[in-house]
Amino acid sequence: MDMIKLIRRILSLTVLIFISMSLLTNIGFAEKEKKEKDKKKKSKKEVVEEVEPSNNAEAGLPVDLNSLFPSDSTEDSSMSGILEWHVQVKDDNNNHNLNPKFRNWWYTKLEGVSTKAVSRVIIVGDGWKGRDYVLPVYSYDRKTWQRLRPEEVIPEKGSEGYFNYSIQKRFDSSVVWLARYYPYSLGRLNNFIKKHIKNPFFKVDLIGKTSHNRPLNLITITDPKVDDKNKKRIWIQSRTHPSETGSSFVLEGLIDYLLTDCNSCCKKVDLGKLIFNIIPIVNVDGVVEGNARLAPTGVDLERQWLRKSGSDNKSLIDTVAPEVKLISSKILELASVGSDFIAAFNFHSTNALPNERPFLFSNFRRSLPEHGAEGDTMLIRQLNFVREVSKEYCGDTLYLKTSYEPGVTMDKKIFPESWWWVNFKDKVVHGTIETTSGINGCFEEWVNWRDHLNLGSAIAMACQKYYNFFVEKKWFRYDAPSWDMKELLRYASEASPEK
Ligand SMILES: [Zn+2]
Repeated sequence: MDMIKLIRRILSLTVLIFISMSLLTNIGFAEKEKKEKDKKKKSKKEVVEEVEPSNNAEAGLPVDLNSLFPSDSTEDSSMSGILEWHVQVKDDNNNHNLNPKFRNWWYTKLEGVSTKAVSRVIIVGDGWKGRDYVLPVYSYDRKTWQRLRPEEVIPEKGSEGYFNYSIQKRFDSSVVWLARYYPYSLGRLNNFIKKHIKNPFFKVDLIGKTSHNRPLNLITITDPKVDDKNKKRIWIQSRTHPSETGSSFVLEGLIDYLLTDCNSCCKKVDLGKLIFNIIPIVNVDGVVEGNARLAPTGVDLERQWLRKSGSDNKSLIDTVAPEVKLISSKILELASVGSDFIAAFNFHSTNALPNERPFLFSNFRRSLPEHGAEGDTMLIRQLNFVREVSKEYCGDTLYLKTSYEPGVTMDKKIFPESWWWVNFKDKVVHGTIETTSGINGCFEEWVNWRDHLNLGSAIAMACQKYYNFFVEKKWFRYDAPSWDMKELLRYASEASPEK
């Protein structure tokens, strides 16, 4: 028998290794099945038991295996990599009662990867649908990330309402980082802040501590030479949901645009007139501790804007999460010092259908008696904002989507937007801006991180336009705001509000 073939066949059995330890806080590797452990042990044993006797038997002589198969030969290294992993996606806070669709974040490191053969990484228990919706990213250095190709992500049999898929690819490095989408850690944010900290237009203030005693920071961007009393404020908060990393890239794009592009050359955003107050990561604990959606205390901070009832319904109840209490208090404090808020945006990312464009979530439709004339004004302002973002973001690619539910008025909701509405009505245009991650990119077919940066700079420019339209009431004739609902509804994904 051909000895090389025999040894290759036997050695190939030894490379099937399951890793059961969690390398990162946000990763749970699949529990190693006992039978798989046994299989691995058996494979190793087979090498020892089969190779040497058959060798001796065939040659009839004592054989020095090292001289026949030197360890640095191509044959040996081609067999040395691990070829299969199981990655078990975990529930936030290991709470198995959560809705499966919120179980959608994983980020892991593979070591000992074969560079000569196709590796198979099986993602077990993703709560969102498989291949058509999820195209993970990989990196060899955690700096340059690339999306996999669609043909490298294969649907696998799922169970219990979850979805499994495998990544099948020959990698070019023995160390590979893989994530469900472009990661954006607290460390990346800190490096980004360091990059700008000496810019006089940029400052960071601690506004308090999270539930797990981590700093909750507020970034402020404005021209410090101009008195704040003569300016208007824009509020932005991001990453209430930790897995929605696209929103952090949008924020980077916005901040870079404000600090770099505009003030050094194009002057499209006037920081002598605007103050941007930004909470870069609302759910700091959730991001650090690897959750997809919730805070480690078990609450969804997006649904913690719980107001008192009766005549005091502008105020939050005393038991809301500390992050929400700190943020709402800071907004009211800033609004009381003489420079009014004119806009409040809440950056999120969604597991949308593959062709879905980024959008602004509105709670309004035209002519609803419960929201009155102020509701119509809000919708007009939201649509004008969306129109301005669309002009700057790779064409007509942002739209307004309504989450209006008949009978569920804003004063009954528990989101940041409903708090803004009850406290400021149409004086502050608000909305949740959602990025998507499907086949609707500006630069490549699939959305990538540069698309998000681009959306951030488009939002910065639209904030200035919004200020021109609704505060200064100044514009060039070709670039005027619109009060024509029919024209504006081209930017809405919903049917005509007359229906
Ligand atoms: Zn979200």
